[in-house]
Amino acid sequence: MISNNIIIGAGISGLSFGYFTKKPYILFEKSNQVGGLCKSIKEDGFTFDYSGHFIHIKDSAIKNLLEKLINKKFLTIQRNAWIYTKNSFIPFPFQANLYYLPEKERQECIDGIKTRKNIKIYNDMPFINWAKAMFGEGITKYFMQPYNEKLWNYDLTKLTASWTAPFVPKPDAGSILKYAYEKNKTDYGYNSVFYYPQRNGCGEIINGFYKQLKNSIIKNAKAGQIDYKNKTVFVNGKYFQYNNLISTQPLTELILQLKNAPADIIESAQKLYHTSVRCINIGVKYKKEIPANIKGKHWIYVPEKKYPFYRVGIYSNVCPKLAPKNSYCLYVEFSGKDNKFLNCQDTIKHLINLGIIGIDDEIITANIIDMPYAYVIFDRNRQKILNTIIKFLNFHDIYSIGRYGAWEYSFIEKNITDAKKLADKLNLK
Ligand SMILES: Cc1cc2nc3c(=O)[nH]c(=O)nc-3n(C[C@H](O)[C@H](O)[C@H](O)COP(=O)(O)OP(=O)(O)OC[C@H]3O[C@@H](n4cnc5c(N)ncnc54)[C@H](O)[C@@H]3O)c2cc1C
Repeated sequence: MISNNIIIGAGISGLSFGYFTKKPYILFEKSNQVGGLCKSIKEDGFTFDYSGHFIHIKDSAIKNLLEKLINKKFLTIQRNAWIYTKNSFIPFPFQANLYYLPEKERQECIDGIKTRKNIKIYNDMPFINWAKAMFGEGITKYFMQPYNEKLWNYDLTKLTASWTAPFVPKPDAGSILKYAYEKNKTDYGYNSVFYYPQRNGCGEIINGFYKQLKNSIIKNAKAGQIDYKNKTVFVNGKYFQYNNLISTQPLTELILQLKNAPADIIESAQKLYHTSVRCINIGVKYKKEIPANIKGKHWIYVPEKKYPFYRVGIYSNVCPKLAPKNSYCLYVEFSGKDNKFLNCQDTIKHLINLGIIGIDDEIITANIIDMPYAYVIFDRNRQKILNTIIKFLNFHDIYSIGRYGAWEYSFIEKNITDAKKLADKLNLK
């Protein structure tokens, strides 16, 4: 069967490519639902995402497009994020809010910034050295090291700092010290203001794309072997011919699907690493009111080792419509490679101890979402390996895009932008 373009995967990247391409295409999605990690699910009156999925957009054309697709303006939200450590809540980012720390830890962070070594900072230096050079020993000890050890589940001497822009706010030393002595009122970071659909969670964006593209999407259609020499993909018992193949599945899996891929390409792909994340979603009815510890908060980073999760977020504080009346809904994120995560009950016990769920509140529902691919690991080999693999794929008219296709730390806006760039390029071919 002949189609001009074949797209693998109906996450935000695959859907965006389908939206922007002017060539005929078929989009194969292995699951019975479209959306990938940007889906939302509904349960007992609650709406849950695949953990917090908030929309941070710089390009107003993309914002306008998404608002047109969902036929409503986004909610515009001023971030209210926190860190829980040493029995205290510290506003995010930690490094610009030392004022809120207990005295001993605050002093250590101040001393650390004053005595940090003046070493050259470069992109692919070990993350742990980068953190100490940027922020000093104290901030590294109390936040950068424990939080990133949890998030990445990887040796911080082998993880590089090349992912940190734009994700880690970098106030200068003067500001860090200033805000150790007084409250900070400056917003830091790429997501200090973000957007979110007024209803139906992040998945509302997916619904918007799907309405436009549904005639070209085949669900329950897992792309299997790819014969890159004859330009065919095997799906549900048939061979489909393509001119260009746009894959948004994880790059490492794409390589394994190639028929007779060169040994050096297979070996290179085996050296690409990633983390997995478990998200536990919980819907709760409160007895009197939402617990004081989470009132108004959007999410809380939890760096200390004694808690097995790295972040807790409160969906319904971002968009009240995500929970029924007198209720709130949360997500809890665990990171790991070997999937030894807590279950719902044990997680709820931790949250009650932390005052994040009220002791008398009623758990209405809880579910587990496991994301086998969550964050790609930035080590020193990654970029070199990617250059080799991408060159090989592009030579054979295969384009691997998206967070896992391009093997990068990307987000919704970048996925849409990259899909558009590729569609524009292939439209001319
Ligand atoms: C914990 C977490 C929190 C995040 N929070 C945010 C946030 O707040 N804001 C933000 O902008 N971004 C966030 N992101 C990033 C965001 O989820 C991704 O950038 C985005 O979902 C990537 O979309 P994608 O289409 O590239 O990949 P995916 O969503 O992974 O989609 C790939 C699709 O391909 C399908 N597929 C895979 N293999 C095959 C096959 N062989 N055949 C057919 N189909 C196949 C899958 O089923 C899936 O539908 C977060 C990510 C994580 C992990």
